[in-house]
Amino acid sequence: KPAAVTKILKRIESDKVKFIRLQFTDIQGQPKNVSIPAIQAEKALTEGIWFDGSSIEGFARVEESDMILKPDVATYAVLPWRQAEAKVARFICDIQTYGNKPFDGDPRYTLHKAIAEAAKMGFTFNTGPELEFFLFRMFNGLPTTEFEDHGDYFDLAPTDSAEDVRRDVVLALSDMGFEIEASHHEVADSQHEIDFKYGDALTTADRVITFKFATKSIALQYGLHASFMAKPIAGIAGSGMHTHGSLSKNGKNAFYDPNAELQLSDTAMYYIGGILKHARAITRLANPTINSYKRLVPGYEAPCYISWSAANRTALVRVPAARGNSTRAEFRSPDPMCNPYLTFAAMLAAGLDGIKNKIMPPEMTNSNIYHMDEKTRKKNKIEMLPGSLMESNAALVKDDVLCKILGEHVVSNLTRIAEMETESFNLAVHPWELDRYLATY
Ligand code: ADP
Ligand code: MG
Ligand code: MG
Ligand code: MG
Ligand code: MG
Repeated sequence: KPAAVTKILKRIESDKVKFIRLQFTDIQGQPKNVSIPAIQAEKALTEGIWFDGSSIEGFARVEESDMILKPDVATYAVLPWRQAEAKVARFICDIQTYGNKPFDGDPRYTLHKAIAEAAKMGFTFNTGPELEFFLFRMFNGLPTTEFEDHGDYFDLAPTDSAEDVRRDVVLALSDMGFEIEASHHEVADSQHEIDFKYGDALTTADRVITFKFATKSIALQYGLHASFMAKPIAGIAGSGMHTHGSLSKNGKNAFYDPNAELQLSDTAMYYIGGILKHARAITRLANPTINSYKRLVPGYEAPCYISWSAANRTALVRVPAARGNSTRAEFRSPDPMCNPYLTFAAMLAAGLDGIKNKIMPPEMTNSNIYHMDEKTRKKNKIEMLPGSLMESNAALVKDDVLCKILGEHVVSNLTRIAEMETESFNLAVHPWELDRYLATY
């Protein structure tokens, strides 16, 4: 028995944990888990637990549907919102198939691969995602789009339970080892943001998943639904998951160069160059649903053009003013519906391609691009992000660098999902059509 296993088994005992959830995500970033009684922990940690992967989205593969969950001991955490009942802890797992081979369709494995490529070049990838979400009222056990509060950006204490939910989420996440940096009311009614400290990409991807189900679980205790949908309501701001990214080498921020222009190192410039070059393909991962594209429209601080800037918040990549250890590039297109493992892997692969091939980004765009006419945009070679799931999927399929890191299994499943979703959407009769046509025709 390895020492790490002995240590964690002692921990499980002293925490008086009764059940353990073995957690992973499907290709869409949906958390899945099986629960085992604590006495099975040793077996799970040494041998792993077999399960049938064939009914998990993006896993299906008839010839080898038996898979093993391999808990990552570093991810052990007691679920703080279940204290009152029998105590529950969780592990996030890697997935293997026969012969202990990593499973190609495991999103966490995709990120492992990208991280290994960065490590070969001496880099660690750090990410700091900012998750926005709405708190909606429920009716008969189902979520509605009715607001819980009518606060505004940075408003103090909305006069209702939204403030309590946010506080409880912050407390629970802190218990689970997150370092919370800030939480505040967002621009739209009933919209909130909680920011936690950046970390290596694997840890933060795990945390994005934990963040979402902790927030949902706690909101539910207040009879509210926490929604991470990108654009739940037309005409008001959607929810984003801006992701700050930086590379470090030997523990030092590799984006910072006090002597360079803007104090941004060549590494930083090439990373940005790589992100912009592959931006259209990354969109398939960062904006994975039909609904995601309704957020990427002008007017709500969400990006729709491919550009970068040190200042304005309409650019796709923004370089915040902080330097030194905080030197970073903020990638503003992702929304919280994304699978964080696949999104961070795609960002990293794009950035590394920029560094390997010394891809310089085009000139910065410091004015508000929403106000730029098409001619000026053309002159400045500012391209648009894809406008739909099919368009971003087409961009992904053409992008060799991203296809290579994701692998055939993931790319073909993403393509299947994009086609299926689009067909289903196209067959639906939308409420807009009824509003527009029913009475008139
Ligand atoms: P914004 O100004 O876009 O609202 P926030 O202050 O809400 O940004 O979030 C900033 C995020 O950037 C935090 O998650 C923070 O931990 C993260 N961050 C800070 N320094 C770095 C870095 N060097 N690399 C990656 N992320 C970082
Ligand atoms: Mg923020
Ligand atoms: Mg308001
Ligand atoms: Mg925000
Ligand atoms: Mg931001």
